[in-house]
Amino acid sequence: MRFGMLNDVTRCTGCRSCQVACKQWNDRKAEETKNLGSYENPFNLSGNTWKRVKFVEKEEGDYAKWSFFSYQCNHCGDAGCMAVCPANAIKRSRNGAVYIDEKICTGCKYCLQACPFHIPHTDEEKKVSSKCTFCVDRISNGLPPACAKACPTGAIVFGSRDYVLAVARERASILAERGEKKFTMYGENILGGLGVIYLLPDSPEVYGLPEKPKNPPAVNFVNVFSNSFVSLIVALLITIGAYASFKKEDKDAR
Ligand code: SF4
Ligand code: SF4
Ligand code: SF4
Repeated sequence: MRFGMLNDVTRCTGCRSCQVACKQWNDRKAEETKNLGSYENPFNLSGNTWKRVKFVEKEEGDYAKWSFFSYQCNHCGDAGCMAVCPANAIKRSRNGAVYIDEKICTGCKYCLQACPFHIPHTDEEKKVSSKCTFCVDRISNGLPPACAKACPTGAIVFGSRDYVLAVARERASILAERGEKKFTMYGENILGGLGVIYLLPDSPEVYGLPEKPKNPPAVNFVNVFSNSFVSLIVALLITIGAYASFKKEDKDAR
């Protein structure tokens, strides 16, 4: 079964329990950060920060309105990071978690370039690529991801991807009934379907999400090449088999 996660921006209060729980469970170091005039902290993901809550400020009349966008790796169905990794260090678990095996990663940074969401970063100490694992160690043992467990408002929902989509649709219909017009449900059908679905009060760009994310051409090339390569090997094996059987029949006939 493929697991999924809903990040519902309409219910997030910006408490950052998810951010802290992620660090704690995954044993990620704290980092020194700077105050740049916002409560948002830190300002980007890193090799040690796999989950982050972005503070999005919008002016509405005389007021500024905040919304909070909790995000991490999207565990894409068609994961560009995985396709380009020359060391095969990026794996997909049976339940849909895309994770990096740091014992195999050579730190080449190809995945950093290939991800349409700029998710992987280098762990500068270990010199390997690093990102959210979907808490593969927890979800493979019947536990929800640490961030989902810690969220006190129901903004993060975890379960089968079908269940998560059903919750997202139900919440979207409530928003529609309330007369909200701008909300977006993001991730259902892009890049082979994201493992993480977002319910956004506004358009994706407001939160820094590309409206129609695409893998870079190199990823498609790798996909085509690897498929052709496998086909070539299969064709070669079939030809060798046919030739061997022909030779045997020829010999038997003599
Ligand atoms: S969001 Fe980026 S890092 Fe995560 S699976 Fe997709 S391509 Fe890979
Ligand atoms: S799923 Fe696990 S690794 Fe990913 S952001 Fe949540 S707590 Fe961190
Ligand atoms: S724990 Fe939940 S409410 Fe708090 S910041 Fe994370 S997603 Fe938002």
